[in-house]
Amino acid sequence: MIKKITVRKGREKSLKLRHPWVFSGSLDLHGVERCAWAELVDCNGNFLAYATVNPDSKIACRVWSFDPADTPDREFFRKKIASALRFREKCNFAIDNVHGVRLINSEGDGLPGVIADDYAGVIVVQFLTAGAVEFKNIIAGLLFEMVPGAAAVYEKSDSAVLAKENLPVSDGLMLGKLPEKCVIEENGAKFEIDFVNGHKSGFYLDQRRNRDILSRYVRGRTVLNCFSYTGGFGVKAALGGAEFVTNVDSSAPALAQGAENMKLNGIDSSRFEDVEGDVFSLLRKFRAEKRKFDFIILDPPKLVQSRGDLNRAAKAYKDMALVALHILNEGGMLANFSCSGLMPRELFQKITFDAALDAGRTLRMVEFLEQDADHAWSLNVPESFYLKGHLMMAD
Ligand code: SAH
Repeated sequence: MIKKITVRKGREKSLKLRHPWVFSGSLDLHGVERCAWAELVDCNGNFLAYATVNPDSKIACRVWSFDPADTPDREFFRKKIASALRFREKCNFAIDNVHGVRLINSEGDGLPGVIADDYAGVIVVQFLTAGAVEFKNIIAGLLFEMVPGAAAVYEKSDSAVLAKENLPVSDGLMLGKLPEKCVIEENGAKFEIDFVNGHKSGFYLDQRRNRDILSRYVRGRTVLNCFSYTGGFGVKAALGGAEFVTNVDSSAPALAQGAENMKLNGIDSSRFEDVEGDVFSLLRKFRAEKRKFDFIILDPPKLVQSRGDLNRAAKAYKDMALVALHILNEGGMLANFSCSGLMPRELFQKITFDAALDAGRTLRMVEFLEQDADHAWSLNVPESFYLKGHLMMAD
């Protein structure tokens, strides 16, 4: 018997819009336990959706299907994964054992809490909701079977969001065999991926398109790559003909991997430097030293964790852009990013404008930037759109 859960009157509106989240306040969860497949009904008992239930999460129910005929079997997941793969193929992402591509992006692909990144045949998966954990073996097995060139499926469920769902960290090899070294190719660059020790699944594939765009504007310029991680922007900038790249990150292992990646791409060590430290203080130090750059990239980690954080984060974004503008040469470019889903693009633009006013600079827009399309988001779940950036030129 499938468990039925009634959605409170008036609270079914978002489900009618095919939004997959139901917050605990919209349901009567008295005595309800975790459950992999419950039927959500309205107050008249009409079918609304099938969802997984996790009373420990604020988002108590996450919808997996709006079709009353669906059941959570292998065929159901095969269909969902096939649709996700088709989307990438039609968007011209190469699914092979050479490139890096996000194959499944959680709600963006109708699989809440499931992330799958393909790094040259190593599929790194994250299962971040109770439902995703429940179905993880089926999903991993299907990915291994369906993805061309798949050599291994490795689990890396270690995100901070697990705590919000009251789920344990889980990692390790699920299927296949890991290669000794995992290197992906990306628009003419090579990157070694350390998915075991790296952040997230190992690399920021979401910035792929932006790395490529920025690399077209850096020839002969000095580039300050803030929050460089393993050197994604730095490598592409050097390959794009930048005169000199300064990578800044607080993580020594990330910088070391970044230096390896420079080497992997044949970039001489005289063309870049790595500075370990806090970006906020280093920007000030560069200013005090009167050191200037032609191109500055600001790609901080997620600064807005919850709505209550927005004001504090806005100050940090502004402060960073302001100091960056003080050390940007005339005619220099600023690429300013926010990967916080809770930061609206318009507000982010206003914050940057505020910084420009205070710095006495005029910024002209060169390109709007966003997450690459394999980080799919659908119009019914706008929350899955998170990465935005502005590439601007300062007078
Ligand atoms: N631009 C990178 C991704 C950046 S992820 C890419 O395209 O691959 C954010 C990075 O910021 C992480 O590597 C983290 O180590 C670093 N970081 C976080 N807080 C920092 C701080 N205050 N100063 C310097 N680096 C910081």
